[in-house]
Amino acid sequence: MRQLLALVLTSVVFTASPSAQGRPAWLDPYRENAEKLMKAATADQFAWDRVAELTDTYGQRLSGSENLNRAIAWAVATMKTDGLDNVHTERVMVPKWVRGVESLEITNPPHHVVPMIGLGGSVATPPDGIEAEVLVVANGAELTRRAAEANGKIVLFNVPYTNYGETVAYRSGGATMAAQHGAVAALVRAVGPTGLRTPHTGGMNYGDGVAKIPTAAIPVEDALRIQRLSNRGIKVRLRLKMAAHFEADVESFNVVGEIRGSEKPGEIVLVGGHFDSWDPGTGASDDGVGCVVTWEAARLMKKLNIRPKRTVRVVLFTNEENGMRGGNGYRDQHEQEAANHILAFESDSGVFAPASLGFSGSAAARQIISDIATLLTPLGLQNIGPGGGGADIGPIATLGKVPMMAYSGDSTKYFTIHHTPADTVDRIEPAEVSKAAAAIAAMIYVVAEMPQALPK
Ligand SMILES: [Zn+2]
Repeated sequence: MRQLLALVLTSVVFTASPSAQGRPAWLDPYRENAEKLMKAATADQFAWDRVAELTDTYGQRLSGSENLNRAIAWAVATMKTDGLDNVHTERVMVPKWVRGVESLEITNPPHHVVPMIGLGGSVATPPDGIEAEVLVVANGAELTRRAAEANGKIVLFNVPYTNYGETVAYRSGGATMAAQHGAVAALVRAVGPTGLRTPHTGGMNYGDGVAKIPTAAIPVEDALRIQRLSNRGIKVRLRLKMAAHFEADVESFNVVGEIRGSEKPGEIVLVGGHFDSWDPGTGASDDGVGCVVTWEAARLMKKLNIRPKRTVRVVLFTNEENGMRGGNGYRDQHEQEAANHILAFESDSGVFAPASLGFSGSAAARQIISDIATLLTPLGLQNIGPGGGGADIGPIATLGKVPMMAYSGDSTKYFTIHHTPADTVDRIEPAEVSKAAAAIAAMIYVVAEMPQALPK
């Protein structure tokens, strides 16, 4: 959900003329197949079982890991078993950041192990660690005000969670903010609405010309504890040990499978999620489930022998979390056909209820998508909100001026387990997975089948 595309309003042949039941009449030819797809998706918990199989067998899928390689091989084999067309991989080079052994303890008052997780991209500490007094700040403004106190200290950003977009700035930029004032390491309070002493990892970046200092997240509970100790006038000291480092880039792959279009195979309706994950959990909600519910659109069409006019292309993108190389690689490798993409759909915000569909594109296209969404009334997903898009589809959509959609679950539930050890399939309801698969399959089917391409 990185950008709203400014798209030219195109005249449209569809008229949103409601039928007697208040449903657009132009959809009548598609109702039967859309209903078949939704019925098949919700008849069982096939999609949840597939997320469980993926995450139980291959676990976390950090870029550059053997787990991710094995999971990619499984996805290729499984798409072939599903009977998808043109199943193949597309090579991209990805960064290989290795976490290594890491720990944090409070050494004054002695001695307490603190749950922690290094932030992706962090540098290591010296082998014996860094021991220093902590400076706790509530935000960047307080750090600026107390800059003179930061030198030689470990800065802890004890920033309350407001929303992901706002609070994540401290995860991505906290180390640079602290290093500018001479801090020797930076810690961030877990970026999540609540937790059960779960730290959240995630990507971070170092600013140019600023010392690279090690950086990690700690749970909300421990940030509050250190805050209280400091408030009592205690000079809290911490020892941070991290062995994190980058190795040379390694080969990885986007996985592609299709239902080739029966009449206009060169026109592409793209669906997908990202197949890599962070390493503390098993990457179930972020984003194993997004891969599976979009993949389901093609699997269900094949199973029901529904072949729309346009090509439905499923892409499981690699390396979204710490490099975006999969999405950028897809754009580079498909530059010539970028403009032939009719719609790009991503699921990378989980499927927790209440979920919703979002669209970004022209008003004319939105009207058609809103019409199609009336088919989703039995699922309760008939309202199309803003916020279509995704990190992986963004590059090709920008290049080809392609309208985008997203399936987004409840963000409070999503960000509670996001990038934590708690991101496991157990937290996801099978019915929510089936529902997402049903909605996506029906929407994608109509966009791929209707006579005129969705206007840009
Ligand atoms: Zn994600």
